[in-house]
Amino acid sequence: MNVADSFKDPALCKGLLERLHSEMDQPLRFMEVCGTHTVAIFQSGLRPLLPEGITHLSGPGCPVCVTHESEVAAFLDLAGRDGVILATFGDLMRVPGPKGRNLKLAKAEGARIEIVYSPVDALQLAAKNPNDTVVFLGVGFETTAPTVAGTVLMAKQQGLKNFKVLSFHKLVPPALKVLLDDPECAIDSFLLPGHVSTILGLEPYQFVAQTYKTPGVITGFDPVDILESLLIMVEQRKKQDYRIVNQYKRAVADSGNARAREVMFSVFRTADALWRGVGCIPESGLVFRDEFADFDALQALDVTVTEAPPTPGCKCGEVLKGKMQPADCPLFGKACTPAKPVGPCMVSTEGSCAAYYKYSV
Ligand code: SF4
Repeated sequence: MNVADSFKDPALCKGLLERLHSEMDQPLRFMEVCGTHTVAIFQSGLRPLLPEGITHLSGPGCPVCVTHESEVAAFLDLAGRDGVILATFGDLMRVPGPKGRNLKLAKAEGARIEIVYSPVDALQLAAKNPNDTVVFLGVGFETTAPTVAGTVLMAKQQGLKNFKVLSFHKLVPPALKVLLDDPECAIDSFLLPGHVSTILGLEPYQFVAQTYKTPGVITGFDPVDILESLLIMVEQRKKQDYRIVNQYKRAVADSGNARAREVMFSVFRTADALWRGVGCIPESGLVFRDEFADFDALQALDVTVTEAPPTPGCKCGEVLKGKMQPADCPLFGKACTPAKPVGPCMVSTEGSCAAYYKYSV
Protein backbone atom coordinates (compact mmCIF):
# COMPACT_ATOMS: atom_id res chain seq x y z
CA MET A 1 0.00 0.00 0.00
CA ASN A 2 1.42 3.39 -0.92
CA VAL A 3 1.55 6.24 1.59
CA ALA A 4 -1.47 8.08 0.13
CA ASP A 5 -3.64 4.95 0.30
CA SER A 6 -2.65 4.29 3.89
CA PHE A 7 -4.81 7.26 4.94
CA LYS A 8 -7.80 5.36 3.55
CA ASP A 9 -6.82 1.97 5.00
CA PRO A 10 -10.03 0.21 6.14
CA ALA A 11 -8.27 -1.72 8.94
CA LEU A 12 -6.78 1.49 10.33
CA CYS A 13 -10.18 3.20 10.10
CA LYS A 14 -11.85 0.29 11.90
CA GLY A 15 -9.31 0.46 14.72
CA LEU A 16 -9.72 4.23 15.08
CA LEU A 17 -13.52 3.93 15.05
CA GLU A 18 -13.39 1.30 17.80
CA ARG A 19 -11.15 3.53 19.90
CA LEU A 20 -13.46 6.48 19.27
CA HIS A 21 -16.47 4.49 20.46
CA SER A 22 -14.68 3.32 23.59
CA GLU A 23 -13.13 6.72 24.46
CA MET A 24 -16.39 8.71 24.16
CA ASP A 25 -17.53 9.80 27.60
CA GLN A 26 -19.55 12.92 26.73
CA PRO A 27 -21.39 14.30 23.68
CA LEU A 28 -19.24 16.10 21.10
CA ARG A 29 -20.51 18.75 18.69
CA PHE A 30 -17.67 19.28 16.24
CA MET A 31 -17.66 21.77 13.38
CA GLU A 32 -15.61 21.43 10.22
CA VAL A 33 -14.60 24.82 8.86
CA CYS A 34 -13.90 23.77 5.32
CA GLY A 35 -16.21 22.80 2.48
CA THR A 36 -13.77 20.09 1.38
CA HIS A 37 -14.11 18.46 4.81
CA THR A 38 -17.92 18.63 4.49
CA VAL A 39 -17.72 16.60 1.30
CA ALA A 40 -14.91 14.30 2.57
CA ILE A 41 -16.95 13.28 5.61
CA PHE A 42 -19.95 12.39 3.46
CA GLN A 43 -17.95 10.75 0.65
CA SER A 44 -16.02 8.51 3.03
CA GLY A 45 -19.27 7.16 4.50
CA LEU A 46 -18.03 7.94 8.02
CA ARG A 47 -21.04 9.91 9.20
CA PRO A 48 -23.36 7.01 10.11
CA LEU A 49 -20.46 5.08 11.67
CA LEU A 50 -19.58 7.74 14.25
CA PRO A 51 -20.65 7.24 17.87
CA GLU A 52 -24.17 8.46 18.59
CA GLY A 53 -23.01 11.33 20.78
CA ILE A 54 -21.01 12.94 17.98
CA THR A 55 -22.79 15.71 16.08
CA HIS A 56 -21.25 16.92 12.84
CA LEU A 57 -21.81 20.62 12.07
CA SER A 58 -20.80 22.38 8.86
CA GLY A 59 -19.14 25.74 9.32
CA PRO A 60 -18.59 28.90 7.28
CA GLY A 61 -15.67 27.47 5.29
CA CYS A 62 -17.10 27.50 1.79
CA PRO A 63 -16.15 30.83 0.17
CA VAL A 64 -19.13 30.86 -2.17
CA CYS A 65 -21.53 30.19 0.72
CA VAL A 66 -20.36 33.20 2.73
CA THR A 67 -20.39 35.61 -0.22
CA HIS A 68 -22.89 38.22 0.93
CA GLU A 69 -25.93 39.28 -1.09
CA SER A 70 -24.45 42.82 -1.18
CA GLU A 71 -21.24 41.46 -2.69
CA VAL A 72 -23.22 39.65 -5.41
CA ALA A 73 -25.02 42.97 -6.02
CA ALA A 74 -21.60 44.59 -6.59
CA PHE A 75 -20.68 41.83 -9.11
CA LEU A 76 -23.95 42.46 -10.94
CA ASP A 77 -23.38 46.21 -10.93
CA LEU A 78 -19.99 45.72 -12.62
CA ALA A 79 -21.39 43.12 -15.01
CA GLY A 80 -23.79 45.74 -16.32
CA ARG A 81 -21.13 48.32 -17.18
CA ASP A 82 -19.81 49.06 -20.67
CA GLY A 83 -16.14 48.29 -21.19
CA VAL A 84 -15.95 45.88 -18.24
CA ILE A 85 -15.11 42.17 -18.51
CA LEU A 86 -15.61 40.16 -15.34
CA ALA A 87 -13.27 37.23 -14.72
CA THR A 88 -14.43 34.74 -12.12
CA PHE A 89 -14.12 31.22 -10.78
CA GLY A 90 -17.05 29.19 -12.15
CA ASP A 91 -18.72 28.45 -8.83
CA LEU A 92 -19.67 32.11 -8.36
CA MET A 93 -21.83 32.12 -11.50
CA ARG A 94 -24.96 30.73 -9.84
CA VAL A 95 -24.72 32.40 -6.42
CA PRO A 96 -27.99 34.22 -5.88
CA GLY A 97 -27.93 37.92 -5.13
CA PRO A 98 -30.75 40.39 -4.58
CA LYS A 99 -34.05 39.26 -6.12
CA GLY A 100 -32.45 35.90 -6.96
CA ARG A 101 -30.35 37.39 -9.78
CA ASN A 102 -26.94 35.88 -10.50
CA LEU A 103 -24.00 36.20 -12.88
CA LYS A 104 -25.23 33.36 -15.09
CA LEU A 105 -28.38 35.33 -15.79
CA ALA A 106 -26.36 38.51 -16.37
CA LYS A 107 -24.16 36.65 -18.90
CA ALA A 108 -27.25 35.33 -20.68
CA GLU A 109 -28.44 38.94 -20.93
CA GLY A 110 -25.18 39.97 -22.60
CA ALA A 111 -22.72 40.81 -19.80
CA ARG A 112 -19.09 39.99 -20.61
CA ILE A 113 -18.13 37.37 -18.03
CA GLU A 114 -15.28 34.89 -18.44
CA ILE A 115 -14.74 31.85 -16.26
CA VAL A 116 -11.08 31.51 -15.29
CA TYR A 117 -9.11 28.94 -13.36
CA SER A 118 -6.63 31.33 -11.78
CA PRO A 119 -6.19 35.10 -11.36
CA VAL A 120 -3.26 34.84 -13.78
CA ASP A 121 -5.79 33.87 -16.51
CA ALA A 122 -7.59 37.13 -15.71
CA LEU A 123 -4.33 39.04 -16.04
CA GLN A 124 -3.79 37.50 -19.49
CA LEU A 125 -7.34 38.51 -20.41
CA ALA A 126 -6.46 42.09 -19.45
CA ALA A 127 -3.34 41.96 -21.66
CA LYS A 128 -5.43 40.72 -24.60
CA ASN A 129 -8.13 43.39 -24.12
CA PRO A 130 -6.25 46.66 -23.59
CA ASN A 131 -9.32 48.78 -24.34
CA ASP A 132 -11.44 47.09 -21.68
CA THR A 133 -11.17 46.84 -17.91
CA VAL A 134 -10.88 43.28 -16.63
CA VAL A 135 -12.15 42.81 -13.08
CA PHE A 136 -11.22 39.61 -11.26
CA LEU A 137 -13.77 38.70 -8.58
CA GLY A 138 -11.63 38.06 -5.51
CA VAL A 139 -13.56 35.59 -3.41
CA GLY A 140 -11.86 33.06 -1.16
CA PHE A 141 -9.95 32.62 2.08
CA GLU A 142 -6.29 32.75 3.08
CA THR A 143 -5.59 29.99 0.55
CA THR A 144 -6.64 32.10 -2.43
CA ALA A 145 -5.65 35.61 -1.36
CA PRO A 146 -1.83 35.19 -1.66
CA THR A 147 -2.17 34.07 -5.31
CA VAL A 148 -4.39 37.05 -6.06
CA ALA A 149 -1.92 39.36 -4.31
CA GLY A 150 0.91 37.82 -6.35
CA THR A 151 -1.06 38.47 -9.55
CA VAL A 152 -1.56 42.13 -8.55
CA LEU A 153 2.22 42.41 -8.08
CA MET A 154 2.67 40.94 -11.60
CA ALA A 155 0.13 43.43 -13.00
CA LYS A 156 2.03 46.28 -11.40
CA GLN A 157 5.34 45.01 -12.76
CA GLN A 158 3.84 44.64 -16.27
CA GLY A 159 2.09 48.03 -16.07
CA LEU A 160 -1.31 46.42 -16.79
CA LYS A 161 -3.53 49.13 -15.38
CA ASN A 162 -6.71 47.72 -16.96
CA PHE A 163 -6.51 44.78 -14.51
CA LYS A 164 -8.54 45.25 -11.30
CA VAL A 165 -9.59 43.02 -8.42
CA LEU A 166 -12.81 43.26 -6.45
CA SER A 167 -11.41 42.01 -3.16
CA PHE A 168 -14.02 40.27 -1.04
CA HIS A 169 -11.49 37.83 0.44
CA LYS A 170 -12.25 36.62 3.94
CA LEU A 171 -10.19 35.40 6.87
CA VAL A 172 -11.09 32.29 8.85
CA PRO A 173 -9.89 32.99 12.45
CA PRO A 174 -12.17 36.06 13.07
CA ALA A 175 -15.18 33.96 11.99
CA LEU A 176 -14.26 31.25 14.51
CA LYS A 177 -14.26 33.89 17.24
CA VAL A 178 -17.80 34.99 16.29
CA LEU A 179 -19.02 31.38 16.46
CA LEU A 180 -17.36 30.82 19.84
CA ASP A 181 -18.84 34.03 21.23
CA ASP A 182 -22.36 32.88 20.30
CA PRO A 183 -23.65 30.46 22.96
CA GLU A 184 -26.39 29.23 20.59
CA CYS A 185 -23.72 27.74 18.30
CA ALA A 186 -22.56 25.48 21.16
CA ILE A 187 -19.45 24.21 19.37
CA ASP A 188 -17.28 21.80 21.37
CA SER A 189 -14.37 21.55 18.93
CA PHE A 190 -13.15 22.52 15.47
CA LEU A 191 -11.87 20.38 12.63
CA LEU A 192 -9.63 23.13 11.25
CA PRO A 193 -9.18 23.64 7.51
CA GLY A 194 -6.26 21.86 5.87
CA HIS A 195 -5.78 24.22 2.92
CA VAL A 196 -6.11 27.53 4.78
CA SER A 197 -3.73 26.22 7.43
CA THR A 198 -0.97 25.62 4.87
CA ILE A 199 -0.78 29.42 4.81
CA LEU A 200 -1.64 30.22 8.44
CA GLY A 201 0.05 27.47 10.41
CA LEU A 202 -1.03 26.98 14.03
CA GLU A 203 -0.50 30.38 15.59
CA PRO A 204 -3.66 32.27 14.45
CA TYR A 205 -5.87 29.55 16.00
CA GLN A 206 -4.24 29.49 19.45
CA PHE A 207 -6.98 31.70 20.95
CA VAL A 208 -9.49 28.89 20.29
CA ALA A 209 -7.74 26.59 22.76
CA GLN A 210 -6.29 29.18 25.12
CA THR A 211 -9.20 31.60 25.53
CA TYR A 212 -12.20 29.42 24.70
CA LYS A 213 -10.92 26.08 26.03
CA THR A 214 -11.94 24.43 22.76
CA PRO A 215 -9.87 21.81 20.91
CA GLY A 216 -8.88 22.57 17.33
CA VAL A 217 -7.27 20.03 15.01
CA ILE A 218 -5.83 20.90 11.59
CA THR A 219 -6.93 17.91 9.57
CA GLY A 220 -6.33 16.20 6.25
CA PHE A 221 -9.10 14.95 4.00
CA ASP A 222 -8.89 11.17 4.19
CA PRO A 223 -10.94 9.00 6.57
CA VAL A 224 -7.93 8.18 8.76
CA ASP A 225 -7.22 11.92 9.12
CA ILE A 226 -10.77 12.68 10.17
CA LEU A 227 -11.06 9.79 12.63
CA GLU A 228 -7.68 10.51 14.19
CA SER A 229 -8.66 14.17 14.63
CA LEU A 230 -11.97 13.25 16.28
CA LEU A 231 -10.08 10.98 18.65
CA ILE A 232 -7.69 13.85 19.53
CA MET A 233 -10.69 16.08 20.28
CA VAL A 234 -12.35 13.45 22.48
CA GLU A 235 -9.11 12.86 24.39
CA GLN A 236 -8.44 16.58 24.90
CA ARG A 237 -11.93 17.11 26.29
CA LYS A 238 -11.58 14.10 28.56
CA LYS A 239 -8.29 15.43 29.98
CA GLN A 240 -9.46 19.08 29.81
CA ASP A 241 -6.18 19.75 28.02
CA TYR A 242 -7.11 22.07 25.16
CA ARG A 243 -4.60 22.56 22.37
CA ILE A 244 -4.33 23.27 18.66
CA VAL A 245 -2.90 20.16 17.03
CA ASN A 246 -1.55 19.73 13.53
CA GLN A 247 -2.76 16.30 12.39
CA TYR A 248 -2.08 17.18 8.72
CA LYS A 249 1.70 17.40 9.05
CA ARG A 250 2.26 15.88 5.62
CA ALA A 251 0.91 19.11 4.07
CA VAL A 252 0.87 21.81 6.76
CA ALA A 253 3.97 23.24 8.41
CA ASP A 254 3.35 24.36 12.01
CA SER A 255 4.54 27.84 11.01
CA GLY A 256 2.45 27.90 7.79
CA ASN A 257 3.81 29.67 4.73
CA ALA A 258 5.50 32.90 5.77
CA ARG A 259 6.29 33.95 2.18
CA ALA A 260 2.64 33.60 1.12
CA ARG A 261 1.51 35.69 4.11
CA GLU A 262 4.14 38.31 3.29
CA VAL A 263 2.90 38.60 -0.32
CA MET A 264 -0.73 38.71 0.83
CA PHE A 265 -0.14 41.47 3.36
CA SER A 266 2.11 43.47 1.03
CA VAL A 267 -0.93 44.08 -1.20
CA PHE A 268 -3.87 43.80 1.24
CA ARG A 269 -4.66 44.89 4.77
CA THR A 270 -7.41 43.62 7.06
CA ALA A 271 -10.79 45.35 7.26
CA ASP A 272 -14.33 44.55 8.41
CA ALA A 273 -16.21 42.26 6.00
CA LEU A 274 -19.77 41.10 5.40
CA TRP A 275 -20.45 37.36 5.66
CA ARG A 276 -23.70 35.95 4.34
CA GLY A 277 -26.06 35.00 7.12
CA VAL A 278 -23.60 36.18 9.75
CA GLY A 279 -23.29 39.93 9.08
CA CYS A 280 -20.28 42.16 9.55
CA ILE A 281 -17.28 40.54 11.23
CA PRO A 282 -14.57 42.95 12.38
CA GLU A 283 -11.17 42.60 10.67
CA SER A 284 -12.28 39.50 8.76
CA GLY A 285 -11.72 40.77 5.23
CA LEU A 286 -8.88 41.94 3.00
CA VAL A 287 -8.88 45.31 1.22
CA PHE A 288 -6.19 46.95 -0.89
CA ARG A 289 -3.38 48.95 0.67
CA ASP A 290 -3.28 52.55 -0.58
CA GLU A 291 -0.22 51.95 -2.76
CA PHE A 292 -2.23 49.42 -4.83
CA ALA A 293 -5.38 51.58 -5.18
CA ASP A 294 -5.02 51.53 -9.00
CA PHE A 295 -5.86 47.81 -8.94
CA ASP A 296 -8.77 48.09 -6.50
CA ALA A 297 -12.06 47.77 -8.42
CA LEU A 298 -13.94 49.31 -5.49
CA GLN A 299 -11.95 52.55 -5.66
CA ALA A 300 -10.99 52.66 -9.33
CA LEU A 301 -14.50 51.90 -10.62
CA ASP A 302 -16.38 53.57 -7.77
CA VAL A 303 -18.30 50.48 -6.66
CA THR A 304 -20.46 50.89 -3.59
CA VAL A 305 -21.36 47.92 -1.43
CA THR A 306 -24.70 48.63 0.18
CA GLU A 307 -26.18 46.09 2.55
CA ALA A 308 -28.75 44.07 0.59
CA PRO A 309 -31.53 42.20 2.42
CA PRO A 310 -31.13 38.45 3.01
CA THR A 311 -32.65 35.97 0.55
CA PRO A 312 -36.23 35.34 1.78
CA GLY A 313 -36.69 31.96 3.44
CA CYS A 314 -33.04 30.90 3.15
CA LYS A 315 -31.51 29.64 6.40
CA CYS A 316 -27.89 29.56 5.18
CA GLY A 317 -26.85 31.79 8.09
CA GLU A 318 -28.23 29.31 10.61
CA VAL A 319 -26.64 26.39 8.75
CA LEU A 320 -23.22 28.10 8.51
CA LYS A 321 -23.24 28.83 12.25
CA GLY A 322 -24.10 25.23 13.13
CA LYS A 323 -27.49 26.22 14.55
CA MET A 324 -29.46 24.25 11.99
CA GLN A 325 -28.85 21.14 9.92
CA PRO A 326 -29.52 21.72 6.19
CA ALA A 327 -32.39 19.24 6.10
CA ASP A 328 -34.20 21.31 8.76
CA CYS A 329 -34.45 24.30 6.40
CA PRO A 330 -38.09 24.36 5.19
CA LEU A 331 -36.90 24.90 1.59
CA PHE A 332 -34.35 22.03 1.55
CA GLY A 333 -35.06 19.55 -1.25
CA LYS A 334 -38.33 21.33 -2.09
CA ALA A 335 -37.98 24.90 -3.35
CA CYS A 336 -34.19 24.63 -3.00
CA THR A 337 -32.22 21.92 -4.84
CA PRO A 338 -28.82 21.90 -6.58
CA ALA A 339 -30.62 22.34 -9.91
CA LYS A 340 -32.52 25.37 -8.59
CA PRO A 341 -30.66 26.74 -5.58
CA VAL A 342 -32.28 29.41 -3.43
CA GLY A 343 -29.24 29.98 -1.21
CA PRO A 344 -25.47 29.74 -1.81
CA CYS A 345 -25.05 26.67 0.43
CA MET A 346 -26.91 24.72 -2.29
CA VAL A 347 -24.80 26.16 -5.14
CA SER A 348 -21.22 25.11 -4.55
CA THR A 349 -20.38 21.39 -4.54
CA GLU A 350 -18.66 22.17 -1.24
CA GLY A 351 -21.72 23.88 0.24
CA SER A 352 -23.27 22.13 3.23
CA CYS A 353 -26.77 21.97 1.75
CA ALA A 354 -25.50 20.63 -1.59
CA ALA A 355 -23.42 17.96 0.20
CA TYR A 356 -26.37 16.91 2.39
CA TYR A 357 -28.60 16.79 -0.69
CA LYS A 358 -26.13 14.75 -2.74
CA TYR A 359 -25.28 12.20 -0.07
CA SER A 360 -28.41 11.90 2.03
CA VAL A 361 -31.47 12.50 -0.15
FE1 SF4 B 1 -30.52 28.14 2.01
FE2 SF4 B 1 -31.40 26.21 0.37
FE3 SF4 B 1 -29.77 25.58 2.34
FE4 SF4 B 1 -32.28 26.31 2.86
S1 SF4 B 1 -31.64 24.48 1.77
S2 SF4 B 1 -30.43 26.98 3.93
S3 SF4 B 1 -32.62 27.83 1.24
S4 SF4 B 1 -29.29 26.90 0.59
